[in-house]
Amino acid sequence: MRKFNFCAGPAALPEPVLLQAQQELLDWGGRGCSVMEVSHRSAEFTEVAERAEQDLRDLLMVPDNYRVLFVQGGATGQFSAIPWNLFGGEVQSADYIHTGQWAGKAIKEASRYGKVNIVASSEDRNFCYAPAANAWQESEKSAYFHYTPNETIGGVEFNYVPEVKAPLVADMSSTILSQPIPVEKFGMIYAGAQKNIGPSGIAVVIVREDLLERAMAGIPRSLNWKIAAEAGSMDNTPPTFAWYLSGLVFQWLKAQGGVEAMYQLSLQKSAMLYDFLDRSDLFSSPVDTASRSRMNVPFVLADDRLDARFLSESEEAGLLNLQGHRSVGGMRASLYNAVPVEAVEALVSFMADFERRVA
Ligand SMILES: *Cc1c(COP(=O)(O)O)cnc(C)c1O
Repeated sequence: MRKFNFCAGPAALPEPVLLQAQQELLDWGGRGCSVMEVSHRSAEFTEVAERAEQDLRDLLMVPDNYRVLFVQGGATGQFSAIPWNLFGGEVQSADYIHTGQWAGKAIKEASRYGKVNIVASSEDRNFCYAPAANAWQESEKSAYFHYTPNETIGGVEFNYVPEVKAPLVADMSSTILSQPIPVEKFGMIYAGAQKNIGPSGIAVVIVREDLLERAMAGIPRSLNWKIAAEAGSMDNTPPTFAWYLSGLVFQWLKAQGGVEAMYQLSLQKSAMLYDFLDRSDLFSSPVDTASRSRMNVPFVLADDRLDARFLSESEEAGLLNLQGHRSVGGMRASLYNAVPVEAVEALVSFMADFERRVA
């Protein structure tokens, strides 16, 4: 029996997608083999790849002057790829907003290749909020401006898109496809698939065409966006199964009403949990109200000696993977697109019952 899965990543996938993959696993559309067992250059896989790209473009309304790439190396690979691809012009410095662990890793990696200006940071209060738009100033010259719209570990989400002169670069690993986004305001968007897209092993890059011309000399081939764009993301063998499965998720999303429907659902699901946390005497959210993530909801118990009991009893109740990130402790419920409303209802009712029993 499938249980409710709140894992932060790799995360829950839509059940209809898994069922379709299962059905097609041995004999994919009458071809007598699986999608994993055909050439990535075959006509049948090309169709899978092109349809996935088109569906993603439709879902996010990606303008024509943007290229969509399917790459390997995860979001972490892009922490390196971004400076490699964008520091080859006149300016070898970039602005970064520091909001927690993922922004921190992006900053550390970019610092190896150029100068990083941390224009704003929420470190003063243990990364429990997203800096306000009027709390920072863009540098005079900068190759790009990087931020993390949703910090997956801290559960901190920006409720605005920064307005900047430099190309805006965003790590959307844990928030992509959960709301409509104005792609034209961004220079480059990237996301590891394993939170809100598909299985791990593939990442999505959406990059404005003019930014393909700014790579540093000596850039590793596998990180080069221009080479990937020219080769249709097939300069070498792509992770075909992950690409196929991501494509099934895009089709599922379209059938659900697209990103606007996902946005409404994410508001409903996260409000249900935050409302409970705010009413509870035992459980609470460590994140400032205005910056609370719709996707990742960390919470703590007033008495952390109850943590172990909470985790074992929730698992027995069929609520999986509620342990917080090892670096911060506490609990975290991730509410990605594939997590149904019923899962959150079950979680809240379990938590209310737990609170009564331990009172
Ligand atoms: C998970 C995550 C990453 C790391 O992704 P990998 O694909 O494992 O490299 C980076 N940034 C954010 C915001 C994430 O949630």
